Amino acid sequence: MELLRNISQQPTNSNRMYEPNQPGSCELRRKRTEDHGHAPAEMSKIITDPATGKCYCRGKVLGKGGFAKCYEMTDLSTSKVYAAKIIPHTRVSKPHQREKIDREIELHRVLHHKHIVHFYHHFEDKDNIYILLEYCSRRSLAHILKARKVLTEPEVRYYLRQIVSGLKYLHEQEILHRDLKLGNFFVSESMELKVGDFGLAAKLEPAGNRRKTICGTPNYLSPEVLNKQGHGCESDVWALGCVMYTMLLGRPPFETTNLKETYRCIREARYALPSSLSPQAKQLISSLLAKTPEDRPHLDHILRHDFFSQGFVPERLPASCCHSAPEFHVSSPAKSFFKKAAAALFGGKRDKVKYYETLSEYINHSPHKTALANGLPPTTRDTIRLIVRGSLGSCSSSSECLEDSTTGSVAETITSVLRGCLENMPKADDIPNGTECSNLQWVTKWVDYSNKYGFGYQLSDHIVGVLFNNGTHMSLLADKKTVHYYAELGQCSVFSTSDVPEHFVGQVTVLKYFAHYMEENLMDGGDLVSQPDTHMPRLYLLQWLKSDRALMMLFNDGTFQVNFYHDHTKIILCTQREEYMLTYINEERVSSTFRLSSLLTSGCPADLRQRMEYSLNMLLQRAAESGWRDSG
Ligand code: ADP
Repeated sequence: MELLRNISQQPTNSNRMYEPNQPGSCELRRKRTEDHGHAPAEMSKIITDPATGKCYCRGKVLGKGGFAKCYEMTDLSTSKVYAAKIIPHTRVSKPHQREKIDREIELHRVLHHKHIVHFYHHFEDKDNIYILLEYCSRRSLAHILKARKVLTEPEVRYYLRQIVSGLKYLHEQEILHRDLKLGNFFVSESMELKVGDFGLAAKLEPAGNRRKTICGTPNYLSPEVLNKQGHGCESDVWALGCVMYTMLLGRPPFETTNLKETYRCIREARYALPSSLSPQAKQLISSLLAKTPEDRPHLDHILRHDFFSQGFVPERLPASCCHSAPEFHVSSPAKSFFKKAAAALFGGKRDKVKYYETLSEYINHSPHKTALANGLPPTTRDTIRLIVRGSLGSCSSSSECLEDSTTGSVAETITSVLRGCLENMPKADDIPNGTECSNLQWVTKWVDYSNKYGFGYQLSDHIVGVLFNNGTHMSLLADKKTVHYYAELGQCSVFSTSDVPEHFVGQVTVLKYFAHYMEENLMDGGDLVSQPDTHMPRLYLLQWLKSDRALMMLFNDGTFQVNFYHDHTKIILCTQREEYMLTYINEERVSSTFRLSSLLTSGCPADLRQRMEYSLNMLLQRAAESGWRDSG
């Protein structure tokens, strides 16, 4: 069959629509002059699949691999753009080379997953083998890291989550990738990550049967591969550790001036963990880079690690992240931009659905669920693991701990209010009509720096508070000049930032640091603003608690707020004019406020109800742990 025919018109734009061609009917004329020296002179711009007659237009070079050169390639009948690996037969003339390509094709063509580069089609003509892959216009993480040098922790969470998802699928198909590296994580136009390049991939064999060597050089060799004990799923997990390290620090963990030394470091799992990394990142890296394969975490456990649950995981990343660090902060007056950015960063129906599924699964299996349904007092077995906590006065010299008195009674009141509502509230599909909520104060930003100093937050009236690890609290008023200090509830000292008592200098510095950090780096968590109070903080934090899914905060005036990490929704319960009001801030950061009495009569949809139930469970767990219910 004649492969190259005459062409009367050359396509100039790969996005242009072409009339569908009949198989084998396109007229092509060989055109050599437009190759710009990228391709061998004999390779045509128009390529025809001899089996189907489909014609493709070869575009720009995307990159160069071991055997292949990768080109942008457009299907002329549909205008769909692919990334085409073109491998000259001359490059794979030896049987083992050809076998390698065939194996890659066999493994890759059956894979279908959102985070795996899609394999569309392959064919060959007398000169080349062609593999048509999903086109990833933003190239790879290696390219992104080259431009950026290092990535921020939220970005690393964003990419790692997708890598783990793709890898989990691969391992479920009993395929090992064996060459996980930044250059094999491709990025699509919409900034979605796709694991690609199955050149070194292999079927998972039982431990005894594994081949002890890999033909080819994986980038991130694990100790067991170096020791010729074979490559298992855990060796891919090791590579993930190297990838995470490299993204955060801009250099691989085992880089020395000579290969022998590098291998020694790998065998001993010896590498430096700079203090610039967060404690959670350090912990996760060290578990991924455990010397013994069995000590490394399973993929599911990675996503449940504190590195993910205690930090911000963007749902989307803007394309600007390819060349500059993202700013997760948007000034509050720019509301339309705010909403757009919020939608772009945190939208995503699929994950929402997943979240609801997990949440409802949790609630359905929770002993409280049955208890609530039966109207019985809920039991508090360890349904929620409370991870960290901080309380005002918790380390004070006072013999009567505030935890057991004031904080306890605030929490107890909220518990009974929430429980009463949940036990009696009917089911409803629609969200009831909201009411006006004047000057609600709530936490718009927070930072957990309790591994060092304490927990910082910013209120909607721009007052910044820090509950220090030593159990004291400081508020910086919106004027940024006045500090209110509480060592215990109700006992307040006030001073100016220009005249700080000597023994408070350190704490005030930290307070200002928190304020600055949140101003510069964090985005407001919702659309509700309140008037700055220049005289007195109405609200200060008594206690905060974290589970793996949510952060709960209790305030001196009885305000109670729960932030759900995953979809950024929030519940705020407060009293206004002797009435309990519940504010719900949804995924789009839009708030609605209800009188609790109207929720009680009209009911609320399942998503809000589930969040209220989860919040109640957190309170119950807190009570079980602190023992205030028993003692009081
Ligand atoms: P190797 O197997 O040696 O890593 P590949 O043939 O897989 O090389 O890829 C070579 C280069 O082509 C990559 O580094 C990348 O720049 C580009 N490339 C490969 N696949 C794609 C794709 N699906 N989308 C966009 N570019 C790609």
